[in-house]
Amino acid sequence: MNQSQQDIVLTPIGRVFSCWPEKFGIPKQPGLVMEATATVEFFPPYDREEMFRGLEDFSHIWVVFLFHDTVSEGWKPTVRPPRLGGQKRVGVFASRSPHRPNHLGMSVVRLVRVVVANGSVKLELAGVDLLDGTPVVDIKPYIPYAESLPNASCGFTMEAIPEVAVSFTTAAERFLAEYQQRTGRNLRELVYQTLISDPRPASQRSIGREYGALFWNVNVRWRVVDQGFEVFDSEEVTVK
Ligand code: SAM
Repeated sequence: MNQSQQDIVLTPIGRVFSCWPEKFGIPKQPGLVMEATATVEFFPPYDREEMFRGLEDFSHIWVVFLFHDTVSEGWKPTVRPPRLGGQKRVGVFASRSPHRPNHLGMSVVRLVRVVVANGSVKLELAGVDLLDGTPVVDIKPYIPYAESLPNASCGFTMEAIPEVAVSFTTAAERFLAEYQQRTGRNLRELVYQTLISDPRPASQRSIGREYGALFWNVNVRWRVVDQGFEVFDSEEVTVK
């Protein structure tokens, strides 16, 4: 075995604390749900202030991470991207599937703030597509002069994501307003932005069908109606 084929050991440098305790509902890419927020906390010795010096001058960063929740499921040579209706297969390397060799993910997200407290550092992020608990293996600034490529072709991801109309029952509105007053979290906007891009699996799209997803510690339920989705129930739960 030559040197480039030897196993590599990666050490997590930090952990994501995000609004997404479970995978269902998480947007398929960053930047789709700007109300989706997270912090990254760093483990010693990667939490030293000097390691982040200058990062606050960048509006966006790359978070390189491990798809830790799919490691035990292994990887697949071909996958069925939701953008193709879950019908057509493409090669795993032509996709952003978590079921990939090495299970590494990369998301460009808004850097809201670099917080330094008691000698350690936290990053506050917005527009994330990251499960709570995600191990972070690297952080890099996003540099538009090299990485913004507006004329790039983008295969099966080219078509705009169709938007679904979202409404809320009076009871749901009341709960979400009270929750915001109590916690400061704009859960209504988070739910709205998440549902308009339709988190349902392609195979489950019948009228009347009900869904639920966790946003922070709230189980939000919605159903399919003629005009789109209606959010009808929300309940605070204990999240593991
Ligand atoms: N932007 C990243 C990329 O391109 O590498 C992630 C794209 S991937 C299609 C996004 C999905 O990964 C989310 O919708 C969520 O279901 C899943 N996901 C996010 N964090 C994860 C984690 N730590 N472990 C497993 N799956 C995760």
